[in-house]
Amino acid sequence: QTEDTALLRLTGVSRRFGGLVAVDDCGFEVTRGSITALIGPNGSGKTTVFNLVDGTYPVTAGRIDFDGRRIDQLGPTRRTFAGIGRTYQLPRLFPSLTVLQNVAAACGEFRPGNLLRSAVSGAEAARATELLEFVGLGDYLTARATDLSYGQRKLVELAQVLMLEPQLILLDEPCAGINPTLIRRMAALIQALNRAGQTFLIVEHDMNFVLSLSDPVVVLSRGTVIAHGAPDDISADEQVREAYLGA
Ligand code: ADP
Repeated sequence: QTEDTALLRLTGVSRRFGGLVAVDDCGFEVTRGSITALIGPNGSGKTTVFNLVDGTYPVTAGRIDFDGRRIDQLGPTRRTFAGIGRTYQLPRLFPSLTVLQNVAAACGEFRPGNLLRSAVSGAEAARATELLEFVGLGDYLTARATDLSYGQRKLVELAQVLMLEPQLILLDEPCAGINPTLIRRMAALIQALNRAGQTFLIVEHDMNFVLSLSDPVVVLSRGTVIAHGAPDDISADEQVREAYLGA
């Protein structure tokens, strides 16, 4: 049990919204140290899986284990403390705060009151500065979040999630809407973090990005895993091609 290579494991997970089964008896693992991709056509349940893993929604059925313990009964904040970090399809930054404050306050989010005063400790500011330099935004520490491009905001969000030192990072469409230069930077950052041991679960539509960066790839269709394997096998899989053609 202590030798479990799975950091995250979903077993028979389902989620209904009224009569709609968004996630249907879904099971897969994220191995420690992997960059695992979760792909599938629109509406196949990818975002819902993220929402079930981070505790935004409770599961209707099944179980979720993280780092050796069952977490599907825990609230979102306790899952964050357990080591699950997440970015969003649309970056959620505080527009009135500077870039540095946005990152430094990422920990303060869990200490009510701190954030409103924008009060951050020297240690938090130093760590936030380091992380912003790491993502290539060292020149933007005092800029307002709203002065940044959409792609730059995604990099700020990555720095925010790194502040929490999560064991697992869930990235929701890190490439969507960002230019090719920043896509390359995003890929390089993910690879550098992964070489240092960081585990990722990534939802992404950009197939070049997914297939060059991730191993394994998990394919969802109608809320169920229809394929799971190395990128080359996945791109050659007939069932996967059919799912994408909407068959
Ligand atoms: P994907 O991320 O793969 O595009 P989603 O997880 O967003 O898929 O959606 C899967 C299905 O669940 C869709 O039919 C979507 O409309 C539905 N769904 C997702 N969230 C909700 C919700 N909060 N309420 C009702 N239906 C939802």
